[in-house]
Amino acid sequence: MTVLSTEEQAVVDTVRTFVDREVRPVVRELEHSDTYPEALVQRMKELGVFGLAVPEPWGEAPVSMPCYAEVTAELARGWMSLAGAMGGHTVVAKLLVAFGTREQQDRWLPAMATGAVRATMALTEPGGGSDLQAMRTVARRDGGEWVVDGAKTWITNSRRSQLIALLCKTDPDAQPRHRGVSVLLVEHGPGLTVSKDLPKLGYKGVESCELVFDGYRAPADAVLGGEEGRGFAQMMTGLETGRIQVAARAVGVAQAAFDDALRYAQERESFGRPIWQHQSVGNLLADMATSLTAARQLVRHAAERYETGRRCDLEAGMAKLFASETAVKVALDAIRVHGGHGYSTEFDVERYFRDAPLMIVGEGTNEIQRDVIARQLVARGGLG
Ligand SMILES: Cc1cc2nc3c(=O)[nH]c(=O)nc-3n(C[C@H](O)[C@H](O)[C@H](O)COP(=O)(O)OP(=O)(O)OC[C@H]3O[C@@H](n4cnc5c(N)ncnc54)[C@H](O)[C@@H]3O)c2cc1C
Repeated sequence: MTVLSTEEQAVVDTVRTFVDREVRPVVRELEHSDTYPEALVQRMKELGVFGLAVPEPWGEAPVSMPCYAEVTAELARGWMSLAGAMGGHTVVAKLLVAFGTREQQDRWLPAMATGAVRATMALTEPGGGSDLQAMRTVARRDGGEWVVDGAKTWITNSRRSQLIALLCKTDPDAQPRHRGVSVLLVEHGPGLTVSKDLPKLGYKGVESCELVFDGYRAPADAVLGGEEGRGFAQMMTGLETGRIQVAARAVGVAQAAFDDALRYAQERESFGRPIWQHQSVGNLLADMATSLTAARQLVRHAAERYETGRRCDLEAGMAKLFASETAVKVALDAIRVHGGHGYSTEFDVERYFRDAPLMIVGEGTNEIQRDVIARQLVARGGLG
């Protein structure tokens, strides 16, 4: 297990201080009023968080995936919604770096590095998110433009993002189906309506919306990389980043739940002693810490594999699967430790409990992760 460089550790420490000093004191108010965290997102821009995945010559301070994962976990420790605000953005930045034409990179990446332009990705449709190849959103050539029709749903940050990486069919009849899929880089404009902000259990403050494309026109050069039919493979690569990001978010939420539980278990007394000294409560804390540490190691393992440049869907899938299930369990156990206060909206643990399940669904459900893991185990002949 490698350690972060001094510079990268300083980045993580800066974000940790930001979370403790500026996020945690205000998060409950923002959460319960479902307020977009304008000031905190502005601070994240100033701290360079939106540029962490943008290399030179477009950005200044790219960091390794292990560092990025730790920054994500720190943000999620403060408020999962903040980590969400930079999740899709990072995936799109990575897509542009890996597959974009030079014109696309020059156009988008400098502004994305500062956060002046924020980006999101639109994959899921009302008809389903798991079976992406069955998508119905279609872009057809009309002279020098693409004309897009269809609908997307659950697209996070889409009202406030200026750039949307839209997964769509540019050849609906192609066989195999993935050969007809492209990523279009689209902006808000006539023919694109953000039709609804979806009400949510948690993940408050940031918007997740329905998008309707009705005769939306995009220029011919909007196809990522300039070549049609490559979008499915491009996005699957992007999702490796996305899944590490979601796994790191889960670690952050689990860390926050564990921290609160450990503190409370030492402060709260029953039967004349701190509750942690009751074996049942102590066992909960021991199991929470053990699972959390294992989850963190799996995320680090996936992030390090990513850095080698090799395919890491197996590792990212395992990290996302384990870390998200851990977050759900640790959040619930933190409620147990808090007793009645765990159910109170005046404490934070109920928020972790509402935020954690998103990570078992987002960026591909855990059922889909198991499918990816099993396929890769067979393809690689085991764990390798
Ligand atoms: C708060 C929130 C934010 C989101 N943000 C975004 C975003 O920014 N961009 C975006 O594109 N999407 C986003 N999503 C969508 C998310 O990625 C999808 O919800 C997810 O991929 C699952 O798709 P679905 O909801 O259509 O479920 P379905 O695909 O309908 O699946 C329903 C159930 O069937 C199971 N299932 C389906 N197929 C299989 C299979 N082959 N094997 C085993 N089980 C299967 C699933 O695991 C699940 O349990 C967001 C979702 C939420 C809730």
